[in-house]
Amino acid sequence: MKSQSNLSLNWTNNTKIKTKFIYPKNILGLKKILKKDNLITTGNQRSYGDIAINSNCIISMKKFNKVINFDKKKGVIELQSGVVLSEILELIINNGWFFPVTPGTKYVSIGGMIANNVHGKKTSRNQMKYYVKEMKLMMQNKKIIKCSSVKNKKIFDLTIGGFGLTGVILSAKIKLKKINSSLIDQKVIGFSSYDQFFAHSNEIKKYEYYVSWIQYFNNQRIKGLSYFGNHSKDKKIYNIKIRDQKLNFFYYSILKLFTQNYYCIKILNFFHQLLKSTFYKKTVNLYDYFYPQDKFINWNKLYGKSGFVQIQFLIKKNDLVNVMGEISAFFKKEKKFSPFVVIKNYNETGNYLNFVGKGISISMDMKIDKEFNKVKTFFNNIFIKYGALVNLSKDFIAEKKIFDKNQKYRKFKNDLKSLGQKSKFASNFSERLGI
Ligand SMILES: Cc1cc2nc3c(=O)[nH]c(=O)nc-3n(C[C@H](O)[C@H](O)[C@H](O)COP(=O)(O)OP(=O)(O)OC[C@H]3O[C@@H](n4cnc5c(N)ncnc54)[C@H](O)[C@@H]3O)c2cc1C
Repeated sequence: MKSQSNLSLNWTNNTKIKTKFIYPKNILGLKKILKKDNLITTGNQRSYGDIAINSNCIISMKKFNKVINFDKKKGVIELQSGVVLSEILELIINNGWFFPVTPGTKYVSIGGMIANNVHGKKTSRNQMKYYVKEMKLMMQNKKIIKCSSVKNKKIFDLTIGGFGLTGVILSAKIKLKKINSSLIDQKVIGFSSYDQFFAHSNEIKKYEYYVSWIQYFNNQRIKGLSYFGNHSKDKKIYNIKIRDQKLNFFYYSILKLFTQNYYCIKILNFFHQLLKSTFYKKTVNLYDYFYPQDKFINWNKLYGKSGFVQIQFLIKKNDLVNVMGEISAFFKKEKKFSPFVVIKNYNETGNYLNFVGKGISISMDMKIDKEFNKVKTFFNNIFIKYGALVNLSKDFIAEKKIFDKNQKYRKFKNDLKSLGQKSKFASNFSERLGI
């Protein structure tokens, strides 16, 4: 089935181009599509950046949506790549298992999670790559191969976090995590200085999950809440239902103010802090802990017609105060702000395009406006000045020179070439960075 579209093609609504979508139903259909050149695969289009966008043709894997096998004893699930996490969470949680790494939304496909090598709130081994036991990939020459960390390792490593540039992931076997409870024991700790934030490092060791939401920052002060969590030991699996809803007119109007007005976000942050300290709950269900943003499934519309970006990068711990200071000075001068800032201690290893390294990860959402070029230039200068590593899976703004400077990125490009196939797969992202 084919269709034309000039609707938004990513979660951030920042790219609206006319392109052709193809929805193959089976292997034969997919092989037919791969006769063409200049294609990219998409899962559930939840990426923030332009990695799943191609103005010529996009292959949607939505119809590859079957659970192939679920070994409930060993906790290994084999899924077609178009399966969306939200569709299988109830099944796996009710059987006492969970995804070891999950992003901040459950509306992502298995193929997208692998191709983006997603990370989540885990305090260690926080990359999808650790839990993919094996996958089936249709290569550019239409050959189907099985690959894993022992078999066809090179293509396996290139594909996890390879943003769809190596082939089409057909299915994958994932090792799940055993859980006794569908609840999370949560601890929320506020901080109002850099020293207090850094002191959380001791707390992190006691928890499996953690993230800090920032309410205010400049070069002197940082204020926010850290959410720590462990799977509850209380042996109860509750049948938790997804209750996410669309924004109605009332919430839409109120929340729109918060995403577009600095003073409104300050008020929201004040109430958030107050509510958290008053109604702070020690245990929450998995969905509330991991996917708070899914409560309103179309919150991305709040940023208006031109959409938004999420900028995520990793810096050295010692640079945090200076970087946050520079960002706050820039925001003040240019009258800009971010309604959503998250920071996290980060320590991950890996290759190629993966978001890995040791330090502090900073992410912030920013509305796109007429002066967005200033934002782009400012952050690219920050990336260079502080040797920051950009999370390419969410990227929309990094300049080619940032890519060219990085040895691991260049190795990805060379190793991809060395596979010896004509490059069929391309995206706005790969073209922007010259991959
Ligand atoms: C609210 C929210 C919170 C988020 N939180 C996080 C987070 O905490 N951590 C994080 O890492 N990310 C996070 N993300 C980003 C999101 O998790 C990832 O972008 C996710 O991988 C998108 O999955 P998708 O199915 O929508 O993939 P798409 O956006 O459709 O595609 C993503 C990439 O995968 C490739 N791809 C998709 N399917 C296949 C396939 N079958 N074969 C080959 N390549 C394929 C595409 O070409 C593209 O390069 C968040 C996103 C949202 C909206």
